[in-house]
Amino acid sequence: MPPLFHRWSRTLKALFPFPVFKIPLHAGFTCPNRDGEKGTGGCVYCDNRSFAPNTRGPRASLEDQLAAGKARYRRREPGAKFIAYFQAYSNTYAPVGELERLYAVAVRDPDVVGISIGTRPDCVPDDVLDLVASLQTPDRRVWVELGLESSHDRSLAWMNRCHTAAEYADAARRCDARGLPVVAHIILGIPGETPEEMRETARFLAALPTSSVKIHHMYVSPHTALERLWRAGEAPMPTLEAHVAAAADVLERLPEHVSIQRLIGELPGPWCLAPEWGVDKAGAIAAIEGELIRRGTRQGSCLEAAAAR
Ligand code: SF4
Repeated sequence: MPPLFHRWSRTLKALFPFPVFKIPLHAGFTCPNRDGEKGTGGCVYCDNRSFAPNTRGPRASLEDQLAAGKARYRRREPGAKFIAYFQAYSNTYAPVGELERLYAVAVRDPDVVGISIGTRPDCVPDDVLDLVASLQTPDRRVWVELGLESSHDRSLAWMNRCHTAAEYADAARRCDARGLPVVAHIILGIPGETPEEMRETARFLAALPTSSVKIHHMYVSPHTALERLWRAGEAPMPTLEAHVAAAADVLERLPEHVSIQRLIGELPGPWCLAPEWGVDKAGAIAAIEGELIRRGTRQGSCLEAAAAR
């Protein structure tokens, strides 16, 4: 029986003959949506400490972050290799020369077989993408992780993302033109979005060059603008049942070749004010799988119907 969805682990097994783990890194970037270039205050939900562990304390050098990550994973998999994941903030937001110097730390490491660079879709000019593409070799894979979050500009404006869906589409196409696989980040349960609008975001990604998807749920972290809205009753968070249904809808509308790296956001208890179910990642994933089984569907099941609309 075919799998319910294309797990990221399957992609890694197809690419590498050894165990591979992603090491999240904080390279010291900021973000144009925080420093005033595009906006101030950041996205309504943003506290990088909730999702980027290396931002929770003093920042170590990239070399030390890589060494610590390698040691952690090699305790259980001595033969492991690694993907250097430039995660915190916007990891293309610097002059090309500075980016080259930072990425070189990963390039120099013989245990790094991949580099994944997380950033905003409005923060990838051509000269930066040319640099990122030049990091690819037969022995080193490179991914660009772009935050779309939603294909609806109304939702992007509500979240203060300060970019549009069209900017995402342009960035994804320019990555693809350079042979760079795109990992799309989306959020399900944005206040005001209907189930049909979330399905539309999946169709949007299916129509673009999309290599992989990370599905997050909307959640409230302390000391964010979203916390104030949530406490004022202006931003209800999704129930587990709503997220399960929405995630299953999205999977049904993504092509089978798109690997799935995440089905819910992942954050430890202290960083999660709501929804409470968000701290039980395994339970939520099991519920999404159960929903697909109940429906008798799997990833890509509704692709033809979606394309026909
Ligand atoms: S783009 Fe990323 S780092 Fe910048 S404000 Fe939004 S969530 Fe935070």
